Amino acid sequence: MITPVMPTYARADIEMVRGEGCYMFDSKGRKYLDFAAGIAVNAFGHCHPHLVEALKKQAEALWHTSNLYRVPGQERLAERLREVTFADSAFFTNSGTEAVEFAIKACRRYHYVKGRPEKYGIITFSNAFHGRTMGAISATDQKKLRDGFEPLLPGFTVVPFNDLAAVEAAIDEHTGGIMLEPLQGEGGISPATPEFMKGLRALCDKHGLLLILDEIQCGMGRTGTLFAYEQYGITPDIMTVAKGIGGGFPVGACLTTEEAAAGMVVGTHGSTYGGNPLAMAVANAVLDLMLEPGFLDHVRNMGERLTHALEQMTPNHPDIFAAEPVRGLGLMRGIKCLVPSRDLVNHARSEGILTVAAGQDVLRLLPPLNIEPAHIDEAVERLSAAARSFPKA
Ligand SMILES: *Cc1c(COP(=O)(O)O)cnc(C)c1O
Repeated sequence: MITPVMPTYARADIEMVRGEGCYMFDSKGRKYLDFAAGIAVNAFGHCHPHLVEALKKQAEALWHTSNLYRVPGQERLAERLREVTFADSAFFTNSGTEAVEFAIKACRRYHYVKGRPEKYGIITFSNAFHGRTMGAISATDQKKLRDGFEPLLPGFTVVPFNDLAAVEAAIDEHTGGIMLEPLQGEGGISPATPEFMKGLRALCDKHGLLLILDEIQCGMGRTGTLFAYEQYGITPDIMTVAKGIGGGFPVGACLTTEEAAAGMVVGTHGSTYGGNPLAMAVANAVLDLMLEPGFLDHVRNMGERLTHALEQMTPNHPDIFAAEPVRGLGLMRGIKCLVPSRDLVNHARSEGILTVAAGQDVLRLLPPLNIEPAHIDEAVERLSAAARSFPKA
């Protein structure tokens, strides 16, 4: 059968037609509480007036110029990110996986211009997800991402997550960097331990390696700090950002220290659309909202409230949810399930709540960051109803 849209997704048979705050509405008029937020993208829910205004204003002024000219929105966003992170400069992309691709290239080029071209390797971790380009799938050991696409980019060594001894043992004369998600998203909402993160920083310093953090999902306020690394008391050399930074408009970025960017000089990389005026207008508007005093406190408070409410609810459904603490940080949370998480996500949708599966058995909750307590109460009611009515095997 011919499928005009390439069938690479197992899509739910519903059409979303409108969004408003924390809710989406489908073509049949059904209303959904959105605790998926387009997979951690709609940081301010749907159609936030400040973001709509920024996009409209830019749409009426100028859409695209290419990177042949200065783009004032890029300069403003890069400068603002410089002020609030470890980074000195930014390269803008249209997606997360492009930011990862930039990070891999920057790491290789760094060692190349330092006269160590043999250090092309990067150590990465089991259950990692860095996107779908050939570079990004080379950085993972997940069969479902890699099967049929080999041979992949050489130089990646995948070791168990949170296993510092395994990292140390994997470092050899070819190692140039270490790349990880501080809080693994697709892999099942697994945070790096503080000792692990500090240990990686120390290993990088000792061996002259670049520490690359993929904060595409856990960055931009999601964990209750602007970036997750802040909670570990370390800084990376390179960091990838996307998802929340555009609030729903496609934007990504790779941020680096001045030192780590040593190789990325004129002509080494480019993107036709990356950092276009529309994307930059929206990303700057997202940052306006995130940097408002008290906003990150709100995310932390809502994260704690959500976790507490979920931990009250899950023991009532011992056949659906595992008896273990809710995972994650801030408003990036996961509940370990005893039933296939994909089935539970599908069933919960019929109870009017959107969630996402992470791995085989984790139900992931990624609500808009500006949710209010009433949304949390509603979410827990709907999840509880879904657990109650989940068809018994
Ligand atoms: C989503 C994601 C990516 C890929 O981003 P795309 O925009 O889909 O290319 C990479 N890394 C992490 C941690 C992600 O969550």
